[in-house]
This record gives sequence, C-alpha cells and structure tokens, in this order.
Amino acid sequence: MKYDFLIVGSGLAGSTLAERIANKLDKKILLIEKREHIGGNCYDYLNEYNIYIHKYGPHIFHTMNKKVWDYASKFTEWINFELKVLAVIKDKKVPVPFNFNSIDMIFPPKYAKKLQELLILHYRNVKKIPILKLRETNNPELKKLADFIYDNIFYGYTTKQWGLSPLELDSSVTSRVPIVLSRDDRYFHDPYQGIPKFGYTQMIENMLKHKNIEITTNTDFKDIIENVKFNKMIYTGKVDEFFDYLHGELPYRSLRFEFKDLKTETFQERAIINYPNDFNYTRITEFKHFTEAKTEFTTIAYEYPESYIKGYNEPYYPIPRQTNHEQFSKYQIEINKLNNTVYFIGRLADYKYYNMDQTIGAALLLFEKKISKE
Ligand SMILES: Cc1cc2nc3c(=O)[nH]c(=O)nc-3n(C[C@H](O)[C@H](O)[C@H](O)COP(=O)(O)OP(=O)(O)OC[C@H]3O[C@@H](n4cnc5c(N)ncnc54)[C@H](O)[C@@H]3O)c2cc1C
Repeated sequence: MKYDFLIVGSGLAGSTLAERIANKLDKKILLIEKREHIGGNCYDYLNEYNIYIHKYGPHIFHTMNKKVWDYASKFTEWINFELKVLAVIKDKKVPVPFNFNSIDMIFPPKYAKKLQELLILHYRNVKKIPILKLRETNNPELKKLADFIYDNIFYGYTTKQWGLSPLELDSSVTSRVPIVLSRDDRYFHDPYQGIPKFGYTQMIENMLKHKNIEITTNTDFKDIIENVKFNKMIYTGKVDEFFDYLHGELPYRSLRFEFKDLKTETFQERAIINYPNDFNYTRITEFKHFTEAKTEFTTIAYEYPESYIKGYNEPYYPIPRQTNHEQFSKYQIEINKLNNTVYFIGRLADYKYYNMDQTIGAALLLFEKKISKE
C-alpha cells in the first residue's frame, strides 16, 4: 500500500494536518507516533478519581485567533475556564501577573494606593507593561516596584525554569512577563479560553476519526521508513534528530513531574500556584480545578525543570537564545534543500515555543498555503 502522506508525530501539529488532508483532500495518511499514545504533549487521561490528568504538564487553551478557536471547537465542547495563578512571595499568595490586587497584598494601603495612581498617571490607557520595560522608568517609586517584582517573582522563576539568568534569554521570553494595570487576576487575557470538556486526548481522537487516517503508535519513524511507501512526509519531531545531528544537538529544557494522589478534597485554592523563590520546583498543579471534578480525592503535580538529556527525558522547551537560533538556521538550510518533499512543522521541527493555538494556526497555514495547492 502506498500512502499519500506519512505524518511523523500525533501532537496538535501532526493531527491538524492529518485531519485537513483526510477531510479536504481525501488523501491517504499513515500517522506514526513513537509514544504509546496519541496527542503529543497535550495528552491527558482520566484517573481513578475521575480527574483529567495532563501527563506532560497543565494545558489551558487560550487564543485571540477566532479561526483557530472555531477549528478546535469542531472537535470538542469546552469548559469555561480562565486561569488565575497565585505566586508565593514572602509567605503570601498573590495574583500573577502582578496587578493592583497583588500591590494591595504586598504593600501598606497608603503606599499601595500611591503606586497604583502613579502607574495610571505614567501609563495612561495601557493595559499591561513588560516588567523589564517598567524597570526603565525614571520615576523612583515605580522603579522600586519594578525591582521588587523582578527580584521576587521574575528572576527566581526564570532562573529555575530555564537554568539561565533572564539576561541570557531572548527578549521574547522576558517580555512575556508583564505587570497588569488593573484588578484583572486572569493569567491570560485572550477572548477565547477553555479546557476540552472530555479532555485533549478525546479532542485529538475526534480530529483523527477518518477512514483515510491509519495510526501506528509505539513506532519511531526511523525504524519503518525503509519499509513504507509514501509520496510526501510531514515531520513534527526534533529537527536535529531528523538530520542525524549534522549540525550538533539543539538545546532543550526538560521537566520532571512528581504526581501525588491525596485523600483530601482540595490541596490548594487554585489550579496552579507558582513558587518563584523557594524549593526546586516552579509550580504545583491541582488538576481537579480545571474541570471542577467532584471527588473526595485530589491529584497534584510538582513541576521540576531540569536539563534535557537525549534518551533520558523529554525535550519540552526549545531554549530561546540567539546562539540556538543560529544553530537552527543551519538546519533550516538542510530543510530548504529537501525542496518541499518533507514539510517540517510544530514545536520540535520549527524549534519554536508554540502555544497550542499557535501550533494549530501554523499547521492550518501550511495546509492552506502549500499542501492544498499541490
Ligand atoms: C509543560 C508545558 C505546558 C504547556 N502549557 C500550555 C498551555 O497551557 N497552553 C498552550 O496553549 N500551550 C501549552 N503548551 C504548549 C503545547 O504543548 C504545544 O503547543 C503543543 O503540544 C505542540 O504540539 P506539536 O504537535 O508541535 O508537538 P508535540 O506535542 O511535542 O508532538 C510531537 C509528537 O511527535 C512525536 N515524535 C517525535 N519524534 C518522533 C519520531 N522519531 N517518530 C515518531 N514520533 C515522533 C512525539 O512523541 C510527539 O507525540 C505547553 C507545553 C509544555 C511543555
């Protein structure tokens, strides 16, 4: 049997393209996945306490892109969920991104009011400012506030998360951390937010339900490539691995999750609580909050960032630094030489930190601009 497309990887990138190609082009696809399950890092499962567990870390869908939201909504109903994160600073749990409510919790009332007034005065009509930008202010009180947030939230969390100081990372990472100039405690401010009602895995299974899509799990594509006939390949794995590390290994940051089941109704007041300064973990997730699961038990996960070691742990995050982008651009030249016989897409193949909506958006664009035009 000859397939029209061999797709490597069943995360959101591979699954979106499999869905589009099967439904819109009526072509035959073999989807190869090396893990024992589909879904990539979005994979979740229902545990014995009826709680959806996100095996590779907590995932909250949020987007400004209506097209992506409408696309994903074809495959799932949503639970309305807007993430509100707390961070433990000086023994208090304050909302992050830091906002006017956080200021009230940390500073004495009169001083807190003064800071809020100064922020409004200096940044009229601005909803949020990156913390590094606020540090550039000439106002001494606001500079002190910016330094406080930098020292107590930003520096510790970033250093633990990446194993690098903020100055060693791209501004794309550092500009993600704002101070919000209102009492809006939400972590994301996108108009579309939610958690799939029956989990991400079911949403992705729904995407892949088509007679033209054949799925093989527990299979590394390199082990079968010689024996499969296909016209084109779509590759969503690590780009350096595809080229046998011709230009060296691209660096990644990994994570270790320590899951615990507890016989208590709730462990913490929010789904996610960050620990920027204490302990080796960055955050604790309590999964039942995502779906408001009603049980007497709960399941939590401690999240420990760690170095990525090939063959030992998972490559979770491409590390956004100039030197790494330069190394990736050498792989980009190899990709170009393949002349669109293999399409590279997704977090690992593009070596880019994509949120879920960006992954789907990039896959839809690839389909519309190239694959559907062939
Ligand atoms: C801890 C964490 C939390 C996150 N939280 C959020 C969030 O809250 N909101 C959000 O929008 N985004 C979040 N993301 C990002 C989200 O996970 C990604 O956008 C999305 O999973 C990327 O999909 P992908 O298909 O590109 O990659 P992946 O999900 O990594 O899929 C790639 C697949 O390819 C398979 N594969 C690789 N190599 C081979 C091979 N040689 N042979 C066969 N199969 C192979 C892999 O096993 C994997 O299943 C988070 C990411 C992490 C790490």
